[in-house]
Amino acid sequence: MLWRGRRQSDNIEDERSDSGGGLGGGLGGSPGQFRIPIGGRAGGGSSIILVILVVLAGWYFGFDPSQILGDGSGGLVPGGGGQITDNSGAQDSTGAPASDEMKQFVATVLAETEDTWTGIFKANGLTYEDPKLVLFSGQIRSACGFASSAAGPFYCPGDHKVYLDMTFFQQLDQQFGASGEFARAYVIAHEVGHHVQNLTGIMQKFNQMRQSMGEAEANQMSVRVELQADCFAGVWAHYTAQKGILEQGDMESALNAAKQIGDDTLQKKMQGYVVPESFNHGTSAQRQTWLARGYKSGKLSDCDTFNNPV
Ligand SMILES: [Zn+2]
Repeated sequence: MLWRGRRQSDNIEDERSDSGGGLGGGLGGSPGQFRIPIGGRAGGGSSIILVILVVLAGWYFGFDPSQILGDGSGGLVPGGGGQITDNSGAQDSTGAPASDEMKQFVATVLAETEDTWTGIFKANGLTYEDPKLVLFSGQIRSACGFASSAAGPFYCPGDHKVYLDMTFFQQLDQQFGASGEFARAYVIAHEVGHHVQNLTGIMQKFNQMRQSMGEAEANQMSVRVELQADCFAGVWAHYTAQKGILEQGDMESALNAAKQIGDDTLQKKMQGYVVPESFNHGTSAQRQTWLARGYKSGKLSDCDTFNNPV
C-alpha cells in the first residue's frame, strides 16, 4: 500500500507507556471505582482471583465484558481463560522507534477509513463520527472492561474506540502466517467495520437479540456480525483501490489474513480439531468470501449478512 506521505489521523490515542502500568493503578485511579487490593505483582494464583474480581466488578458496574468485539485468537480477559499477562511495571519493547513507523502506518490507514466512511455516510444522508484508536501495550481498560493484548485487537461499542496492541501484527505475521502491510490494514479496517455497525445501530440490535439466545445461537449471530465487519473492510479496500494506492499483492495478503484467522483454521492450528458450534467469527472460507464481496462491489447492500446465507 502506497501510504507514505498521506494524511495521518489525529484520532490515535497512544497509551503504550501508560497501559503497561498495571491493573491496580488503573482500577483504583478513578474515584468511585471498584478497588482491587493488590499486594505487589500478581502471580499465577492471584491472577485467577484478579480475573474473577474484574469480572465481578464488570457486572457490578453494569458493563458487560462479553460485549467487547474481540478479534484475536486468545479469548478475552476478563472471562476469557485467565490470560492475564503479568507485565505490570514493565515499559516494554513496543515504544521503540521501530514501532513509530508502524504507528504512522496505523494512523494513515485510520485516516483512509475516516475519508472513505465519511463519504459513504454522506452519500446516504448520514454523518460519520470518527472512532478513536487506542494503541496500548500489555493490558488496557476500556468502557467494556479490562482486556489483555493476548485477546487481540478489539472494538468497544461503549466508548467508540478501537484498541490495538501493535505486537498483534508480529503475531499475525509469525504465528498466523499472515504477512504483509495490507493484512494489517485489513485488521484495522475490520475493527472500524464494527464501529460502522455501532453507528448504524446494527450492534445494538445484535446485543439485544443476544440476550435471549442460547450460546450456540449467539455464536451464529456473532459470525454474521463478524462477517459483515469483514465485508465492510472489503468496501473500504474497494475505495482505497480506486485511489490508486493499492499495490500488487495487497488484496491477496488481506485475503490470506482472512483465511489464517478463520475459526476453523485457528482451531486446527491451536487445538488440532474444530468445534463448529463454537465458531464466532466465521470459517476461513466465509471470511474470505465476505471480504472479497465487499471489495468487489464497494456496496453496503452487498454486506447484508443477516438476510443472506453466509
Ligand atoms: Zn470483529
